[in-house]
Amino acid sequence: MALKLVRRSEWGARDYRLPSGATLYGNERRRGVKIHYLGTPYSDRTHDRCAAYVRQLQAQHMDGNGWSDIGYSFVVCTHGYVYEGRGLRRRNSANGNTTLNDQDYAVCGLVGSSGLTVPPPAQVNGLRDAVDYCRAQGPAGDWLGGHRDGFATSCPGDALYTWAHAGGPRSNTTPEEEDDMATPVELWSYKGKDEPQDAYAYLRGTSRKIDALATQVAALTATVRTLASQLGDDVDTATVVAAVERAIADAVVQVNVDVTGPTNS
Ligand SMILES: [Zn+2]
Ligand SMILES: [Zn+2]
Repeated sequence: MALKLVRRSEWGARDYRLPSGATLYGNERRRGVKIHYLGTPYSDRTHDRCAAYVRQLQAQHMDGNGWSDIGYSFVVCTHGYVYEGRGLRRRNSANGNTTLNDQDYAVCGLVGSSGLTVPPPAQVNGLRDAVDYCRAQGPAGDWLGGHRDGFATSCPGDALYTWAHAGGPRSNTTPEEEDDMATPVELWSYKGKDEPQDAYAYLRGTSRKIDALATQVAALTATVRTLASQLGDDVDTATVVAAVERAIADAVVQVNVDVTGPTNS
């Protein structure tokens, strides 16, 4: 997956406050990357509105907080685009104090404390792209965590914090599946069971099980045919084969019942 980097000039960033701007990072290695979220309500929006949102963040940080620039090193929208904030060469001001800002890059996902609180698959992959970029070009070390590590804050929220401490894995949802899943993953209860299931994961798992069982049944059928044909002249081979095929057919019916899901019994 290629990094979808949006440079400052492309999102219409104001220049950092002159004369000095944020302190330049030296050449020494950073420990790693800290993940942030907005900490305010956020609702998802179409991508043509994301750049304006990042400009608004920069204005809050410069005009409201009095910082020299947007606080984050990078900002990742829900569509997986990576907006260049202070970038790779300048110290961020988002981690809480100078020592923490010096230690780790700051990457913020556009995820709220209410509204949209769980990053969609494209954003998960964009966050991963940003972390990889900091490591490859920064340089950032292997450490990955959240703003709340070593600083009193709820940031980056539970979803992103858990993701960061799982090592920041990519989403295994492919783009094709995402198109099919235009609405968020639905939770469903089936056959009166209370426990909600991720419908898509359940269906994918079931179809894999059916494929595996069909392969097993086909292999068994071939083996039984071969054995039956070797039984000899004093045995009615056709009768044996027919009996075996009936047994296999019964087994297939049972298999279909098993993979259809739990019953109420
Ligand atoms: Zn934060
Ligand atoms: Zn976007």
